[in-house]
Amino acid sequence: MIPINKPWLDDDAKQEVLKVLDEDALTSPAKNGGKRVQEFENLLKSYLKVKHVTAVNSGTSAIHASLLSLGVKPGDEVILPSFTFVATANSVIATGAKPVFVDINKNDYTIDVSDIVKKINNNTKAIIPVHLYGHPSDMDEINSIAKDNSLQVVEDSCQSLGSLYDQKQTGTIGNLGCFSFYASKVLTTGEGGAIVTNDDNLYEKLLMIRNHGMVHGYDTQIFGLNLRLPEVSAAIGISQMRKLDRMLQMRKTNAELLFDGLKKFEQKGLLTLPYEPENKKFNWYLFTIGFKENSQRELIKNNLIEEEIGATVYYDPPIHKTPYYSHLNDLSSDTFLSNTVWAWNHVLSLPVHPLITETDINKILKIFENNLH
Ligand SMILES: *Cc1c(COP(=O)(O)O)cnc(C)c1O
Repeated sequence: MIPINKPWLDDDAKQEVLKVLDEDALTSPAKNGGKRVQEFENLLKSYLKVKHVTAVNSGTSAIHASLLSLGVKPGDEVILPSFTFVATANSVIATGAKPVFVDINKNDYTIDVSDIVKKINNNTKAIIPVHLYGHPSDMDEINSIAKDNSLQVVEDSCQSLGSLYDQKQTGTIGNLGCFSFYASKVLTTGEGGAIVTNDDNLYEKLLMIRNHGMVHGYDTQIFGLNLRLPEVSAAIGISQMRKLDRMLQMRKTNAELLFDGLKKFEQKGLLTLPYEPENKKFNWYLFTIGFKENSQRELIKNNLIEEEIGATVYYDPPIHKTPYYSHLNDLSSDTFLSNTVWAWNHVLSLPVHPLITETDINKILKIFENNLH
């Protein structure tokens, strides 16, 4: 089986983990966290060129803590795409606020800026652009809308570590940025996450929110939870940071091979390939294509799966179509979030992670050659 994504662990990671076990310090309730957590945060800080990093135990926690740090509460509304992993919306629900879903662009599957404007009202507090598949959202436009309407911007960068927007790392462009280090992401700690910001006040709050709102221990000053990242996880993260650039380069090489092999299908009008504009650099978390016909998407997907290639539809269904969320919005017709519904029926993501080989890629291309006409 060739999975859609797979963590790349090696002897270096094992050594880092063993050191933690030898030292017998598995976690720390100190305000600044344990030794490995701090080291991992410092590595992320210099890689992302951002002032503050707060490591937490998941990407979900990162988004939840971000919204708490901004004071998002019941009665507030938060704007986000429906075409994302459900964690983005669940984090909003966890604060008591209401998620308000907006549509995506058909060309890159990121949030549609013109639809954001239509859904802002007096209760709106924040916008969560999601850099889906590692494609950066239109951050200049989003920041400018946010400024005009006094809104906060929380980037869901869970899939976009290493993606650039105007030479800037995604996650560092809004008020806060959230990363996930879940096992399928470009960099993993097993479970884990981080919040990045250049804002000193938000950072101080995040340190407290990570640790039950405490500063010196048992002095809870604001609402918080236990969102701490274990030291063993941070140790894996430290090792992963050493090869992040190499892993991203391998993803890019794999994406280029797929691109070259699939170009002719795009020229024939059968599908669209990922389009990387001048001002955006993708981390190639996923290689996502949009088929012209749903039937051809299904045919290729089924053939890939039969050949044990983990081709996947992200997201099937989009959040607003899940049982829990479908009661929250007016779903009177399928034209609601029309590009989202279109993408749900037409996209397919292919693996480009560092552990797939050129032979695997040729196997994928052959399935297109044999079935797509
Ligand atoms: C993975 C992911 C999350 C959640 O991260 P976890 O670490 O799994 O909690 C949130 N948003 C997006 C877009 C993701 O891909």
